[in-house]
Amino acid sequence: MGNCNGLPSYLSNTHNGPHNNNPSNGLNIHPPSPPPTQPPIPPPPVHRPRGAGIGRVLGRPMEDVHATYIFGRELGRGQFGVTYLVTHKQTKQKFACKSIAKRKLINSDDIEDVRREVQIMHHLTGHRNIVELKGAYEDHHSVNLVMELCEGGELFDRIIAKGHYSERAAASLCRQMVTVVHDCHSMGVMHRDLKPENFLLLNKDEDSPLKATDFGLSVFFKPGEVFKDLVGSAYYVAPEVLRRNYGAEADIWSAGIILYILLCGVPPFWGENEQSIFDAVLRGHVDFSSNPWPSISSSAKDLVRKMLREDPKERLSAVEVLNHPWMREDGDASDKPLDIAVLTRMKQFRAMNKLKKVALKVIAENLSEEEIMGLKEMFKSMDTDNSGTITFEELKAGLPKLGTRISESELRQLMEAADVDGNGTIDYIEFITATMHMNRVEKEDHLYTAFEYFDKDRSGYITKEELGHALTKYNMGDAKTIKEIIAEVDTDGDGRINYEEFVAMMRKGNPDMVANRRRK
Ligand code: ADP
Ligand code: MG
Repeated sequence: MGNCNGLPSYLSNTHNGPHNNNPSNGLNIHPPSPPPTQPPIPPPPVHRPRGAGIGRVLGRPMEDVHATYIFGRELGRGQFGVTYLVTHKQTKQKFACKSIAKRKLINSDDIEDVRREVQIMHHLTGHRNIVELKGAYEDHHSVNLVMELCEGGELFDRIIAKGHYSERAAASLCRQMVTVVHDCHSMGVMHRDLKPENFLLLNKDEDSPLKATDFGLSVFFKPGEVFKDLVGSAYYVAPEVLRRNYGAEADIWSAGIILYILLCGVPPFWGENEQSIFDAVLRGHVDFSSNPWPSISSSAKDLVRKMLREDPKERLSAVEVLNHPWMREDGDASDKPLDIAVLTRMKQFRAMNKLKKVALKVIAENLSEEEIMGLKEMFKSMDTDNSGTITFEELKAGLPKLGTRISESELRQLMEAADVDGNGTIDYIEFITATMHMNRVEKEDHLYTAFEYFDKDRSGYITKEELGHALTKYNMGDAKTIKEIIAEVDTDGDGRINYEEFVAMMRKGNPDMVANRRRK
């Protein structure tokens, strides 16, 4: 077992990024091979051809990221990519850009991994503890993922600088990590590479928010699905992963290892090389007697033990971790039940007026394949009879599997809300419409496209007639509904809806949205 005082030796020479395949650093196992249970991911269809050629990775027109961003210093690197600080030429806003050299993507599995990383980041967008993907670009040499910038660096470096954390600070970090795990799992994603290098601090403050990144090893999973590929990083890998028979519980194990390190500064399973770390993981003996453990609360130890239970079925789930007394102690943890993201989104959708619902449907129809791939996977896992529509019974069976309890009447209301055309079932595009994150609305020219859908004569106004025409398609074009919508949205009282009023309506009730560019 490592030394609890001073610079933890295990941390000093092993910092090479997650995909690093070099066995001598004792950190990483293998790049992933695609799990046999995963359906092949078809190449995304092509949108907006621009004559620039179609990229072989993202499958859409190539675009030079340097046309939009100025590249600055290097922020970090891994096996496939180097991450740079970049500045948007026009807005001067700073971002991080992970550049993946295409020459390193040798076989189709490598390409599929990158494609999946992009899809999963799009899918998880909107969680406050997950690094936000702003855009993905592909040119002849590289794939570039432009992300929100985390100026505070890696949690890894913070731990090295501090040695270890107070219980209170460790609890706050653990809570953020486990809400990420909860969100990933309820959205049907397993991270598979949770470790302190892949948690970044948003800023340099002591109490900076934590953000998960690097979904390069992540996969979509269905409840009960078994994975066999050996991926991850040695210190953090769960025993069932080493036995090649695992599910999403493996992420909780990794989070438990990180919590252990946060509390004492060294990993629980230690060895001179990868194999001896694995042996220690499989033996499963965790040291709670060396310093500083005697002075750590029994409640903290209790939680670590329960996150590191050998049997994944006995291990705490993300919700159970968040409800553990130690997590709740400093009052930060709220008592309100944790809704899964899709449920929150459906509830938001339910409260919207009908114009907004149809506008969102137009936007959903214009999203790229990579943006909706994750929701498509969720749709497929709920549509158990593969009919292309989700029935009430399927929704009733599907939501609890994602980790939520919901009453029959609430379910009925959600069903009715998501069923935009009122035919009694939720089709694929209705599901995307009701569950996509609202920041989609802000992307590129989506708002304008939606406005133009209603403003058929391009007059700059949505008139009563145009509104009626569009809503009739969805059985909502009655005079009362139209009157209500106009009354709500037409703030200047001229009896029609201009673009500004339309944008204001779309933004209303979306707290995450920042005020931004107006279409001229
Ligand atoms: P890899 O798959 O190559 O490990 P990561 O996504 O983990 O790529 O990025 C590698 C490193 O780059 C991170 O560990 C971190 O130091 C830095 N980095 C990545 N994303 C950001 C970001 N959004 N903000 C700041 N630094 C980042
Ligand atoms: Mg990484």
